[in-house]
Amino acid sequence: MKSVYVFQENSLILPEKDADPLHYRGTDLQIVNKNFDSLRKARTREPSFAGEACGGLAGSADFFDFGEADTAALSLPPGLPLPPGWTALPLRQWLSVVSAETVMFDPRRAGPVLRAFHIAQWRAGSRFCGSCGTANTDAPDELARLCPACGRREYPRISPAVITLIINDEDKALLAHNNKFAGGMYSLIAGFTEAGESLEGAVEREIFEEVGLEIAKIQYVASQPWPFPNSLMLGFTCRHAGGEIKPDGKEITDARWFSRGSLPLLPGFGSFSRYLINRWIDGSL
Ligand SMILES: [Zn+2]
Repeated sequence: MKSVYVFQENSLILPEKDADPLHYRGTDLQIVNKNFDSLRKARTREPSFAGEACGGLAGSADFFDFGEADTAALSLPPGLPLPPGWTALPLRQWLSVVSAETVMFDPRRAGPVLRAFHIAQWRAGSRFCGSCGTANTDAPDELARLCPACGRREYPRISPAVITLIINDEDKALLAHNNKFAGGMYSLIAGFTEAGESLEGAVEREIFEEVGLEIAKIQYVASQPWPFPNSLMLGFTCRHAGGEIKPDGKEITDARWFSRGSLPLLPGFGSFSRYLINRWIDGSL
């Protein structure tokens, strides 16, 4: 049986009768084909296709069988009305549900869905060759887009981002309020690694830019895929080594040292920052 994960923008689209997010493993290809057949007729077709043998939607540019025995993905165009009996569940909400018992999401539950989502987005955004502009095809021998004119290959992009828990000599952690956060939530300092930069360099630079602190003893803790659209979050701890907190006033509007007994509103389960904060709270870092 081939299972299909259906997405629309940042939501997982699933049949209402299967809407138990903890146990959802995709929808059978035949059911997806039947429900989204109008899409196949309405959308552009791509001639060269790894999933051609699946029939139905496999001829649609929105469908991607990425060469694994049992999984495929379908991206619905934004705004397309859902067939009766189907519902949209925002992926971040789904992650908070599948992570509620463990804080960090469980890769056995979340992995296949996040992989399908990441690949579907990459594929939709790589329809043309970045060198010569010819329409790409799917490479027959690996997960890549292949330009039939110049042979350029493009692979799923993964963008490393660092997120760091800073601890001071009083065993307090630095938590910051970002102007994008709703309400009074505080979280960790995070940012993307820049071209030519090491992960440690990104940790030091982001912390200095956002809160003006110098740090030392950077240690890697764990990682988590975050395909919104293509990040890999790499988690670190470090020690405060100098300087006073100076929020940058743009991204970060407030930052303070918090003890375990006086914590502010924290990010929800499923977020990597909450995982790191909880590891610090329970003393396992
Ligand atoms: Zn090309």
